[in-house]
Amino acid sequence: MVKTVVVIGGGAAGYFSAINIAEMAKDVEVVILEKTTKTLSKVKVSGGGRCNVTHACFVPKELSKFYPRGEKELLGPFHTFMTGDTIAWFSERGVELKMEEDGRMFPVSNSSQTIINCFQKEVDKHGIKVQLSTEVSQVQRKQDRFEVVTNKGKLQADYVVLAVGGNSKLKHYEWIAGLGHTIVNPIPSLFTFNLKNHTSNQLMGLALNANVRIVGTKYEEYGPVLFTHWGMSGPGILKLSAKAAQYLFDKSYQFKYEVEWIANGDEVVHSFRKPKASTQLSNTKIEGFPSRFWEYLLAKGKIDSKKRWADLNKAEIEKLIQLLSKDDYTANGKTTFKEEFVTSGGVQLKEVNMKTMESKLIPNLYFSGEVLNIDGYTGGFNFQAAWTGGFMVANAITELVKKA
Ligand SMILES: Cc1cc2nc3c(=O)[nH]c(=O)nc-3n(C[C@H](O)[C@H](O)[C@H](O)COP(=O)(O)OP(=O)(O)OC[C@H]3O[C@@H](n4cnc5c(N)ncnc54)[C@H](O)[C@@H]3O)c2cc1C
Repeated sequence: MVKTVVVIGGGAAGYFSAINIAEMAKDVEVVILEKTTKTLSKVKVSGGGRCNVTHACFVPKELSKFYPRGEKELLGPFHTFMTGDTIAWFSERGVELKMEEDGRMFPVSNSSQTIINCFQKEVDKHGIKVQLSTEVSQVQRKQDRFEVVTNKGKLQADYVVLAVGGNSKLKHYEWIAGLGHTIVNPIPSLFTFNLKNHTSNQLMGLALNANVRIVGTKYEEYGPVLFTHWGMSGPGILKLSAKAAQYLFDKSYQFKYEVEWIANGDEVVHSFRKPKASTQLSNTKIEGFPSRFWEYLLAKGKIDSKKRWADLNKAEIEKLIQLLSKDDYTANGKTTFKEEFVTSGGVQLKEVNMKTMESKLIPNLYFSGEVLNIDGYTGGFNFQAAWTGGFMVANAITELVKKA
């Protein structure tokens, strides 16, 4: 008898699972259920409309380090399907990817629609049914099959793939929790730090490499920090937001942080004092500092930029060292990073067999994508987790179908 696979969720993970199941298992009926009127909506807007499909990192252990949640658990799956496989998978279907300087990979077309078109073509080719406006409210195990309850009626399935994505509202996971699975508190990850009406807002658009530390914690990150008109963003801040997601949530996003703009700030300051004794501070070039940033720091420290180095008093020297090494800020909230944001939390990984992505509690129930407690930094890692998970699910279901 032909087996039926119901994939719940028409996003990246749902489509990748469904297509690979249909292609590899062959004699199966695959149905995707999507609660909204459109599938692949996040793929469409991803990477600013260009879809950052994956990241050019080709060593499983290195790749897994880009996941603050899931690092250990993804290592095994990455040995089965990772970046190189993603590039090959799309290439075999006519979609070439290109790499940017920072390692992010996009379709050569620079359009997320290319990815969507590729998926649509595959769905049509394999006769996968896509049911829109079909919201699942319950999945029940009935003998050795499933009954999937939706707003449009009930469906029977031999295998169910849960690919409903992440969401920072617990309600989203209620019926999954009803299956007996533990949900790790879902909270936002990948966000920027707000500094409303701060003098740094005038530096909007300026980016510097810096080390950012959250005061009173072990959380710190080195990377590009971008000034915006509402606070700070850039890869360094986003990565830090992911690492410290739970801590910052607990603090209601009101927290102190320090920025080290240059290493060994004290040495740098002292190195200027004698050789540049008669030079005005404003005429001093500090490597990597645009002059407006240097002026901003001096103004923040209430140090007259017209002063000569020789005329700085002890307190001003100390202030300068502090501004370079421990420039302090108080964040008052967060802002969603429009290019990419994800949910930290979701189905607890201990309850999932990471070799197959099957539930350890309910046989023939699988998980794929952001619904799991897996999330990555910005840069194509979140889609890579969806492709890897989707492939693992397809592999596992194919083996069972072939044995049946
Ligand atoms: C603006 C933005 C840009 C991003 N850009 C990138 C990027 O460039 N690169 C990258 O790697 N990552 C990016 N991400 C993250 C990436 O989009 C997600 O990690 C990825 O889409 C997760 O895929 P998913 O299929 O698990 O979930 P989703 O894409 O969220 O899909 C889940 C689907 O399930 C449906 N659903 C939910 N509940 C039900 C239900 N009860 N019944 C039926 N259907 C249901 C939802 O409507 C949705 O269509 C971005 C995220 C955002 C928000």
